Amino acid sequence: MRKPRLMTPGPAMVPEDVLLELARPVIHHRSDEAKQVIVEVSEGLKEVFQTQNDVMILTSSGTGAMEAAVVNVVPPGGKAIVLNAGHFAARWGSLCKAFGLNAVMLDTEWGKPVDPDQVAEALKQHPDAVAVLGTLSETSTGTGHPVEAIGRVVAESDAVFIVDGISGVGAMECRTDEWGIDVLCVGSQKALMLPPGLAFISVSPKAWAKIEAFDARSFYFNLKAARSKAKEFDTPYTPAHTLILALRAALKRIRAEGMEGVWKRHRVMSEACQAGVQALGLELFSARPAEGLTAFRVPEGMKDSQIRGKMAERFGVTTVGGQAKLKGKIVRIGHMGYTDELDVIAALAALEMTLAELGFDVEPGKAVTAAQQVLIGKGAAALA
Ligand SMILES: *Cc1c(COP(=O)(O)O)cnc(C)c1O
Repeated sequence: MRKPRLMTPGPAMVPEDVLLELARPVIHHRSDEAKQVIVEVSEGLKEVFQTQNDVMILTSSGTGAMEAAVVNVVPPGGKAIVLNAGHFAARWGSLCKAFGLNAVMLDTEWGKPVDPDQVAEALKQHPDAVAVLGTLSETSTGTGHPVEAIGRVVAESDAVFIVDGISGVGAMECRTDEWGIDVLCVGSQKALMLPPGLAFISVSPKAWAKIEAFDARSFYFNLKAARSKAKEFDTPYTPAHTLILALRAALKRIRAEGMEGVWKRHRVMSEACQAGVQALGLELFSARPAEGLTAFRVPEGMKDSQIRGKMAERFGVTTVGGQAKLKGKIVRIGHMGYTDELDVIAALAALEMTLAELGFDVEPGKAVTAAQQVLIGKGAAALA
């Protein structure tokens, strides 16, 4: 017997009370009851996003919100600066290409944070850029980008700042309004403790002005239509409203902990995970780790599939490897959403036992001890 622990950076574990919402009989999506649920979750989402802007609910995975952002904000032939620092950031470029937009790729080495000065420079070179497309937590490299500082730079220009917060929001501090994020995209299956199927998108007045200036070439992901329905606490088409019921339960948990509490818990868990990994002599991949996951390099002479396979088969701990050019080079442990200190300890214990059984020179207990030292000090203060 082993207990499954889905420690992947999306999908992530879902609490039992949230799952139980999905077992209820399906109600009609235009009923007063369904509307009331949207009224409640709309408030909760604003709190999670830290915004006064409307947050619209889309029935799609996170990429749907990214597509909605690009196709509604950037007019045909328009220019966008892509802060290209990983596999998911590159998706912004692919989206621009799919819609015939002019993407200026501002490349950053994978694992390094985007430099706000370079963004300022790019905006100076491209004063006609309509949008800057960035990422809060680059899940492919486990990197947290300095969104607050980049937001300050973009706010001084005419461009709008569009951020992929799909694995970041709910795991890392993110203050949409204070930080000048004009459009924020989030998915349900990462730190928000839900199964996949919903996406959320907030839009600032600066971004609405761009959206209102032309007719978006999208029917399903039309934000003007979504906004007019959202005013009546409705959606243009049938939403995945069973998931919206589950969202209400997840938001209740988040409200009980408070956003500050949620951020602190993730900060402490990520510090503990990093300390544990490093205590085994493993190297972190990112120069500025995100807080919802930890990425480390696969040790010399080993295969990531060996490590991840044993962690899953022997201990029930599921992790992921690298994507695109990082395939086989890194292992990523997710600790976002419905994850606590002991899940992190469990993952580290599984990792060190796995490495020991694979013949890697590790002293079992080292990772766990290092993590516990973080948790006993900071954790106690932060999580009390
Ligand atoms: C997961 C993820 C995506 C893709 O989201 P889907 O829900 O798979 O469409 C995009 N960006 C980031 C940063 C992610 O973590």
